[in-house]
Amino acid sequence: MSDVGTEDAGDAGGATTADAPPTDATPQEASVSKPSEADESAHSYVEPADSANSDSEVELAEPEVEIADPEITLPDPEVESGDPSDAFEALGNEVRMAVLRALVDAESEESDDATDDHDVSGRTMTFSELFEASPADTTAGFAYHLRQLTDSFLHKTGEEGDRYALTYAGLQVARAILAGTYTERVSFGPVPTGDPCPLCEDGALAATCEANYVAVACADCERTVLTLPFPPSARRDRDPAHLLDAFDRHHRHRLSTMSDGICPECAATMDASLARPPESVTERLPDAEADRAQVRLDCAQCGCRLHCPVTLAVLEHPAVIAFFHDHQRNVRDRPIWNVGSEWRETVVSEDPWCVRVSVALGEEVLGLFVAGDCSVAATRRRDASEVRPAS
Ligand SMILES: [Zn+2]
Ligand SMILES: [Zn+2]
Repeated sequence: MSDVGTEDAGDAGGATTADAPPTDATPQEASVSKPSEADESAHSYVEPADSANSDSEVELAEPEVEIADPEITLPDPEVESGDPSDAFEALGNEVRMAVLRALVDAESEESDDATDDHDVSGRTMTFSELFEASPADTTAGFAYHLRQLTDSFLHKTGEEGDRYALTYAGLQVARAILAGTYTERVSFGPVPTGDPCPLCEDGALAATCEANYVAVACADCERTVLTLPFPPSARRDRDPAHLLDAFDRHHRHRLSTMSDGICPECAATMDASLARPPESVTERLPDAEADRAQVRLDCAQCGCRLHCPVTLAVLEHPAVIAFFHDHQRNVRDRPIWNVGSEWRETVVSEDPWCVRVSVALGEEVLGLFVAGDCSVAATRRRDASEVRPAS
């Protein structure tokens, strides 16, 4: 199963259902309509300071800021590409593996003293230093192996041109080797997460890792809330008690990057869109959750994909962080597999798409209006009494 496939496999209950809000969502949403530019109560998070600042002792004059719209043009980059099968063939040898490891090990041992044996990719080593670090018997044989790596994974550097450094590809491959990406399959669990199931009444969630994929599921209703990859090195040097915290932080960060339109794997453009979840997802949800939209994040360059609830795509939005902070709470205290019953999602319109995600803390409600491209078009903070119809 490919990395891509499984991240996507969250589809079948995957991240898709991570924060399903309860049914009583509707009354709270009833009075909400889609904001327009004329809607004065809608706050965009980039809106400058409002009247709330008026009782502050510091008076700031309205700054006159003129921002020119610069036309930035970048010259066409030079791109050289090689054949991946040639590249991987060059790696298929223990002497060459030892060379990559030696350079990346040297980098971490020597830290960052900026001497001339450092290159932009880390430490540089001479032919004889690399020969020493390798299992090769003769320098002639070693020279042959070194030539196979040069250009793709190594380049010559230094004033005399007699030192070797890792290229970008060499550094990526060497790090993946050290991290166990190609070789380690970690399985553990089930481990109780300590969090209740968001999809049934009494269930508790547990995490199970199978061959580097973590699934968070409920034994009671037998639903899987999410399935996401977890690098095998995550468990090294880490107290098992903090493993799930690391899993949560790792994916929260990736989701935030994806929601910003940047692929966390390859930095290409991540396309984001809203859609109705497929039947394979909705048929596994409680009836009350069937009327949901889903965020779809897709990188056309490397195939990285993720489907998740709209709420997860706005968790690290500045308005959300500020709202929680203002209420002496940290939005990171709740994990992505159950963000808490204070969150609601409502599909306001499908053409064009608009989903309102709201979160209630104390007597205040923050609403975020998410457009079809998953951008937050507007935010609005209101008193809970204004949102709830009087009974
Ligand atoms: Zn359950
Ligand atoms: Zn990508």
